[in-house]
Parts: sequence; structure tokens; C-alpha cells
Amino acid sequence: MLRLLFLYLSTAQWARALVTRSSLGWLTASRFVAGETVDAAIEVIRTLNAKGINATLDHLGESVSTLAEADHATEAYLLALDKIAASKVRSNVSLKLTQFGLALDYTACLRNVRRVVEKAYATQNFVRIDMEDTPFTDQTFQLLRELRREFDNVGVVVQAYLYRTEEDLLALTAEKIRLRLCKGAYNEPPDKAFPKKADTDANYVKLANLLLDRTQTISPADASGRTPPMPGFATHDEQMIAAIKAAVVEKKTPREYFEFQMLYGIRRELQEQLAKEGYAMRVYVPYGTEWYPYFVRRLAERPANVWFFVSNFFRR
Ligand SMILES: Cc1cc2nc3c(=O)[nH]c(=O)nc-3n(C[C@H](O)[C@H](O)[C@H](O)COP(=O)(O)OP(=O)(O)OC[C@H]3O[C@@H](n4cnc5c(N)ncnc54)[C@H](O)[C@@H]3O)c2cc1C
Repeated sequence: MLRLLFLYLSTAQWARALVTRSSLGWLTASRFVAGETVDAAIEVIRTLNAKGINATLDHLGESVSTLAEADHATEAYLLALDKIAASKVRSNVSLKLTQFGLALDYTACLRNVRRVVEKAYATQNFVRIDMEDTPFTDQTFQLLRELRREFDNVGVVVQAYLYRTEEDLLALTAEKIRLRLCKGAYNEPPDKAFPKKADTDANYVKLANLLLDRTQTISPADASGRTPPMPGFATHDEQMIAAIKAAVVEKKTPREYFEFQMLYGIRRELQEQLAKEGYAMRVYVPYGTEWYPYFVRRLAERPANVWFFVSNFFRR
């Protein structure tokens, strides 16, 4: 119930105004958001890199309502890629297609994202397309495949809570597309996604094994060289991580064939511990002024975060 309430609040304008105008809103959000500018985010990445952790940079913003806003997002990503190259931090970028205009105009969205992927290619970098809610799943894969006709430095995310994902994963790995596997963060109907968390968790482990099996057959050396189809296991769940660690031992998967991924500010000690153990670790580093929906989704995932925020909000 609490999760549903917060997923509703993530889109409610009145709640957005209330939280973003309060200094406590930013104080709590800054646990999960690296800063409002790209320079602040680059400094955070520098600190992560010093601990042996790679990053993926996300300029916050989604569901834009005009193509001018989509252009603005495109420029922000072009700047971010330049800043990554100039600062030499170890980071790629992640983006959401609705921020590039997917809900308004597919062709304009493709044109915008293509500019970012092209710039990433020129600076030897990689672009990850995040997966949003199911009204956008098919178009996301379609747009990705159009980009892959020209570029190999672009990959996508698949969500373990969707029934369709096993089939998608098999098709995408056959095309040597680099995947991030996550559980899924949106509110989906029971005809599309497992309503029970235990079923999503079981599917996550099943899909992780499948992904490792498919990756074994395509070694980084066989792939394009610039972008091996290294899967990313995005989770903070220690049970998922333990299952993946056991699977890679059993399958004798080399550690350079996969990476763990987590969100900035969540399970920091675990991130550092995995890096120290010699696993490739990547942290998703969001920045920008449009932090509200991202922040509220993080609250929805963890009641303790909600309690901290709400109790302080009303105390003031
Ligand atoms: C790098 C990365 C990229 C992602 N990209 C996408 C995407 O493109 N599309 C998409 O739908 N979703 C994405 N997600 C979100 C993902 O789908 C889940 O909603 C989120 O990761 C929570 O699931 P979990 O696997 O961590 O497990 P859960 O079962 O939710 O959590 C396991 C444990 O992790 C800790 N934890 C989890 N979340 C929090 C939190 N917010 N605060 C504090 N502790 C927490 C808690 O200890 C919890 O018990 C991404 C997640 C990561 C890490």
C-alpha cells in the first residue's frame, strides 16, 4: 500500500511542489542525488572511482511535456559526455527515453538520442537506455534496435517483474546487446508483472543465470572490442547478490564478464565491499534539478526512508 501511495506521489504535482520547495526535501533527496549540476556529479564520481567503483551518470528528468525540454535534455547529456571525457572519470551515461520526447514524437526522440550515442561513440563511451513503465517497453526496444544498426555502444535495461522479460532477454542477448537486469521500479498491472515480490525475486535469479549462460558464449574478445556485452546486475538485495556470486563460481564465469550495479547513496558499504572483493561495481549517479520523481521512487522502495523523511517534515 505504502509503495503504491508513493508511486502515486511521484507523479502528483501538488506533492512535488510541497517537497521541492522545502529545504528538508533537498536535504533528504541529497542522500540519493549527487547534486544539481554536472560538475557536482563529476566530483562524486571522482570519489567513487578512487574506491575502485565505476559510475553511470544520469541527468534527472523524465516525461517532458515539450520538445524544447527534450532538446534541453539532449544538450545536458552532450555536455555530460564532454565533462566525463575532459575529467577522465570512469563513467558512462544512463538516460530515459521519455526525457528525450518518446511520449511526444518517436522520430524526434530517436534523433535526440542518436546525437547522444554518436557523441558517446566519438568519446569512446557507452549509453544505457533505462527502462520505464510498460506503455514504453516496445518503443524502447524498437528505438534501441534502430540505433544498433549504426552504433554498438548502446544497451538497455530489462525488468525481472515483467512476464515478457525472459523472451526479451533471449532475443536481445542473441543480438549481443549489453543488458542491465533490475527488478523494476514502476507500478504495473498483474497481467503484465508479478504482483508478489517473491515471484519477482525468483525470476530475477532465473534471468541472472540465463544472462550469465548467454554471456559465457560471447567473450569480450569476440565482441566488438569497444563494448563487450557485459551484463550488469542492478540490485541492492543481498540474496540476489549471493545467488549471482554462487552462479558465477558454478559456471566459472570470469569476473570481467559481468558487473554489479547499485544506486548512489544506497548500501554504500556493500558497494565498497564488493569492489574490494574484486567484483566490477558500477554506481548510478543521478544529478540535476528535476530530482523529485526519482527521489520519491527511492522512498517507495524502502519504508525506513519514508519514515525518516515524514517525521522530519512534520517536526519542522
Ligand atoms: C543501477 C540501477 C539501475 C536501475 N535502473 C532501472 C531501470 O532502468 N528501470 C527500472 O524500472 N528500475 C531500475 N532500477 C530500480 C530497480 O528496478 C529496483 O526498483 C531497485 O533497485 C530496488 O530493487 P532491489 O533489487 O535493490 O531489491 P529490493 O528487494 O527492493 O531491496 C533489497 C534491499 O536493498 C536495500 N534497498 C533497496 N532499495 C533501497 C532504497 N531505496 N533505500 C535504502 N535501501 C534500499 C534494502 O536493504 C532492501 O531490503 C535500477 C536499479 C539500479 C540499482
